[in-house]
Formats: sequence, structure tokens, C-alpha cells
Amino acid sequence: MRQDDCIFCKIAAGEIPSNTLYEDDLFRVILDLNPASKGHALVIPKEHYANLFELDEQVAGKALQVAKKVGTKMVDVLKADGLNLLQNNGELAGQTVFHFHMHIIPRYKNAPNADMLRYTPLKMNAEELAELKDMITK
Ligand code: 5GP
Ligand code: ZN
Repeated sequence: MRQDDCIFCKIAAGEIPSNTLYEDDLFRVILDLNPASKGHALVIPKEHYANLFELDEQVAGKALQVAKKVGTKMVDVLKADGLNLLQNNGELAGQTVFHFHMHIIPRYKNAPNADMLRYTPLKMNAEELAELKDMITK
């Protein structure tokens, strides 16, 4: 299924041009227009799923395989020093395009945005952690 007003449906279908790094029956991987680092790319399924919760399970598994393939090549070719996979769900989590996508973000020593994914850890004791585990697993 696709959604007519969705920009990633159009990009994935090739109706809007993109710098495509990889394509198969299920996915198109493109360079991000506003990259956080050199090579920042997006794994976009050709079918429309708004987010991880809607994503088909088989497609979910394959998305990671595609990210591995493209990310590995990218690190090699661009001589990156590391790589982040990032995937936002919901506005509060930073999602701005509501068609599932996974970011591939190569990382480089001494590059800008060095702290893009840093956070201040919450202070939680063992009891609080165990309580959370119980909530999530019951
Ligand atoms: P989100 O914040 O939803 O996780 O990520 C959306 C990403 O899509 C952003 O990094 C943004 O730069 C990128 N983006 C938005 N519109 C376009 C577009 O038309 N073309 C490309 N190549 N990237 C886009
Ligand atoms: Zn879409």
C-alpha cells in the first residue's frame, strides 16, 4: 500500500529523484538531503508503514539486513570511524516524515555533531530497574 500525499512513497517509487545507494524489490536507500554526517542515508521501504509499530515483521528483519549491507560498504568506502543506526517513531521521538525509515549515520573522528546522540543517563536504582522489567515483561 502507498499513501498519495507521502513524500517517501514517491521517493521510494522513483517518482521523485533521489541519490539512490541501493534498491531492491522492497527498499530504496537514499542519501539524506540534510545530512548529520557525510554519507547519512535512509533505508526506506517501498510500502507505506507510518512507523515501527505498523511495520510488517518480515520487512523489519530485512531492513536491518539492508542497513548492514549498505552501512558496511559505506564505512569501508568513506573510511568512517563508526556508524549509528537510528530510527525515530513519533513526533516526540524526532520523527518528521511519517513513513518508516532507518537512518544510517557514518561517524568520523573530529567531525561536527560529535555529540548528536549523547544523553544524560537517568539515575535509577536496582529496585526501580527490576520494577520496570516486571512491567514490561508481564
Ligand atoms: P526523521 O526525523 O523523520 O527520523 O527523519 C527524516 C529525515 O528525512 C531527515 O533526516 C530529513 O533530512 C530527511 N528528508 C526529509 N525530506 C527529504 C527528501 O525529500 N529527500 C531526502 N533525501 N531526505 C529527506
Ligand atoms: Zn509513504
